[in-house]
Amino acid sequence: MAQLILEPGKERSLFRRHPWIFAGSVKQLSGRARPGDTVEVASADGRVLARAAWSPESQIRARVWSFDPAESIDDAFFKRRVAAAVARRAALPELAGQSGLRLIHAESDGLPGVIADRYGDTVVVQLTSAGADKWRDAIAGALVKATGCGRIFERSDSEVRALEGLAPRTGWLLGEASDSPLLIEEHGVRMTVDIESGHKTGFYLDQRDNRRLLGELARDKRVLNCFCYTGGFSLQALAGGARQVVSVDSSQPALDTAAANLALNPQLDAGRAEWRCANVFDELRRLRPRREDESGPAQAGEQYDVIVLDPPKFAPSARHAEQASRAYKDINLQGFKLLAPGGFLMTYSCSGGIGLELFQKIVAGAARDAGRSARIVRRLQGAADHPVDLAFPEGEYLKGLLVQVD
Ligand code: SAH
Repeated sequence: MAQLILEPGKERSLFRRHPWIFAGSVKQLSGRARPGDTVEVASADGRVLARAAWSPESQIRARVWSFDPAESIDDAFFKRRVAAAVARRAALPELAGQSGLRLIHAESDGLPGVIADRYGDTVVVQLTSAGADKWRDAIAGALVKATGCGRIFERSDSEVRALEGLAPRTGWLLGEASDSPLLIEEHGVRMTVDIESGHKTGFYLDQRDNRRLLGELARDKRVLNCFCYTGGFSLQALAGGARQVVSVDSSQPALDTAAANLALNPQLDAGRAEWRCANVFDELRRLRPRREDESGPAQAGEQYDVIVLDPPKFAPSARHAEQASRAYKDINLQGFKLLAPGGFLMTYSCSGGIGLELFQKIVAGAARDAGRSARIVRRLQGAADHPVDLAFPEGEYLKGLLVQVD
């Protein structure tokens, strides 16, 4: 096994059990390793500290598999880690019976570069690092063993693979597509999941709890759901008894799926739902009620009691934070302007490059500029099947605020 020798002092993050080793921390690789190979990690003074996957193309030059330098990285290792991740979820009563469930949340489950989501009897895996890619068969085998699922689909088409020098790869690893669409149920609402071409692995499981919270808030309310994708929040709002739900997304295929999802739920009143294909940045401005001193006809009534803003990742990394901040500020500002007195803004960022503190500052600035006073009534995060390893704060990508205006 080749040995990765760290620059002096760079072993400290390993003592904190942080699994990433950046290019600047690597003094040298002694021996030969191909992308994804397991290497031993040693401090500059020769202490062996961990075993990691070598990613020569990436700025994250290695990702630790095990902080036990004697642990073999082999099929049995992946069986243990995958079984532990599945067992962790089984131990959480709130996740019991969920037909859509994240089984492996990468670093936070001790498996850097590995995502696995279960939809009914199908598991979708996404491998985003050279190490994870190399162990594809072991990971798939371990998932079959831990879940008993007969279908495994690979969705390794995330852009981040390019940073690792990996080409996109999708297809069935086990079994094949069934004739009927894949369905899950979330808080009593049925949803289709397009695992082959939907976003991520097909569905945003991380927002499960937050969608229920919206349902609870929505009774008799006018709801505006921005960036609605396949309608997860919209349908929960309808299930909660919303008076009207206007949903906006720029993707017509996503809206078509959303409408199809609504049709799968005859218990919901489709007459209260409206799907709009538009750019949210433009649509929020178009909806804004004009003041009497502004030109053009007043658009009275275009106010909402609850507005959801769940945009795509504007800042994939800290480098994009400034530009992304402006985009978050803009939609939140427009959102505040459209809220009825006493209304709620449910606002999110899933950008790794924007921390909670910064996000809160942006939302505060947006409220101020909109002339609204508002208070945080809840901080929102990903569901319990998206845990965050305490040693890996980067795992907390989704942050949200529920804000109530005066
Ligand atoms: N809230 C959703 C997930 C949102 S994903 C859920 O719970 O499932 C982000 C969505 O934003 C995608 O559907 C994408 O099509 C849409 N989108 C991206 N940029 C947009 C824009 N400028 N205007 C409108 N929709 C946009």
